[in-house]
Amino acid sequence: MKSLFDPQEAQNIVSRYSSIPPELALRVYTSRLIGGDASLVLHGGGNTSVKFQARNILGEEREVLYIKGSGIDLGAIEPEGFVGLELEPLRKLKGLPKLSHEEMENQLQIHKIRSSSTDPSVEVLLHAFLPHRYIDHTHADFILALTNQKKWKELLEEALGPKAAILAYEPPGLSLARVASEAFGTNPGIEAVVVAQHGIFTFGEDARTAYERMIDYVGRAEAFLKARTRKRIFVNPSAGSPSQKELISAVARLNQAVRGACAFRSPGGLLRRFHTEVRTGDDLIEASLSPTAASLCSSGVLTPDHVIRTKNKWVFLPEIPPEDSGLKKIVKEKEVWLKKLRIGTGELLNN
Ligand code: ZN
Repeated sequence: MKSLFDPQEAQNIVSRYSSIPPELALRVYTSRLIGGDASLVLHGGGNTSVKFQARNILGEEREVLYIKGSGIDLGAIEPEGFVGLELEPLRKLKGLPKLSHEEMENQLQIHKIRSSSTDPSVEVLLHAFLPHRYIDHTHADFILALTNQKKWKELLEEALGPKAAILAYEPPGLSLARVASEAFGTNPGIEAVVVAQHGIFTFGEDARTAYERMIDYVGRAEAFLKARTRKRIFVNPSAGSPSQKELISAVARLNQAVRGACAFRSPGGLLRRFHTEVRTGDDLIEASLSPTAASLCSSGVLTPDHVIRTKNKWVFLPEIPPEDSGLKKIVKEKEVWLKKLRIGTGELLNN
């Protein structure tokens, strides 16, 4: 992981967006850096925020929190992609014993500073309760690969060091926000909060610090994982493996069969088909040859957020089926095939 922060580009963005506060322009810049890396967030995932003083219509100064709108892509975010909220009333919610999801949604709506702005991210209370000016949040793969282990707490403490608070999973909302803010209260020197099966938050008083802490902590997890898995090669392809040409033609045939199996009729009676894409990255080939490939495909995604983009489970075929019998079987037995692999057609159609 390498920081892509370029002070000149940061300055250019501040000049380009001269009609908005520079704090927000810098928020746009580092949000795009995070959103541009799919190992940190998938499209629409993750969120970032900034706090600063702003005047209301009466000329009164108050603290405002700008947070990414729900579902907006960090990689291409514009200033309008952030929602401004009055910070003080949100902070007061910390004193409530509990807050239902519906009431939290209501509170977020009534404290927006512009009624027409989009809905804020559901993780807004965590951003509100922590005092830092800039907060960055991702569902980084390297972090999740550690949070999803049996000994997640010990592994993360060892990988990330003493300035990262490691918290158990809780759904976004009042309770998680309060636990994170208590972790900061106990140890004000922390630079990051990790939530098991969810992701990581980093923070700082300026945009660069919060972003570079994200790169630093995710980089620590990456280095830790690589050092521990270096010698573990899934499997070596045997000498009798098919040639690349044979594989390409077999995969092309398989593609057609899968498209046929997943084809469906639209309400107007038209036959609709999916596009398929073959990916042959070294890591994917290695994982597909692993003895644990089948269980990897059915073990589910690392964090609920990934379900939106990748769906939860994947079909595993132990081999490319032979041309005649195997491929026809896939198309003919499509319902059985899909059910057996626990993938509902609804889920496929919604993809
Ligand atoms: Zn999240």
